[in-house]
Amino acid sequence: MATSTIQCPKCGNCETIKRKKSFLGFQKCICTICQFKYDDDSVPLGNVYRIIYWVFGILCSVALLGKLPEIIVAAASGPRNFLMVLVQQWVIILFIVGSFWALRKDADIRNSNHTDSQ
Ligand SMILES: [Zn+2]
Repeated sequence: MATSTIQCPKCGNCETIKRKKSFLGFQKCICTICQFKYDDDSVPLGNVYRIIYWVFGILCSVALLGKLPEIIVAAASGPRNFLMVLVQQWVIILFIVGSFWALRKDADIRNSNHTDSQ
């Protein structure tokens, strides 16, 4: 797959780097000399991950939109209640932010790969 040489940003070793999928689906590199872990920002998400993130992000957005009347009522009754509702919805909000963050990062990687190859 990836044949380009990657250098460990910490110790400079470039021979013995292990690759691993990170929790979010991106490539992670682990230096076998100094154990330094870092993201490989040149490999985009796989198609399966990308689809999952889209579906997940949209489903969670819809779920949050369904809660919108509740959130507006809370917001109208004071910042403290508004904050409480946000705290109650934090899992959904986290999923939305996480999904779109991953998609954004994936788009950035694909854009930079595209300009590199020109
Ligand atoms: Zn290293």
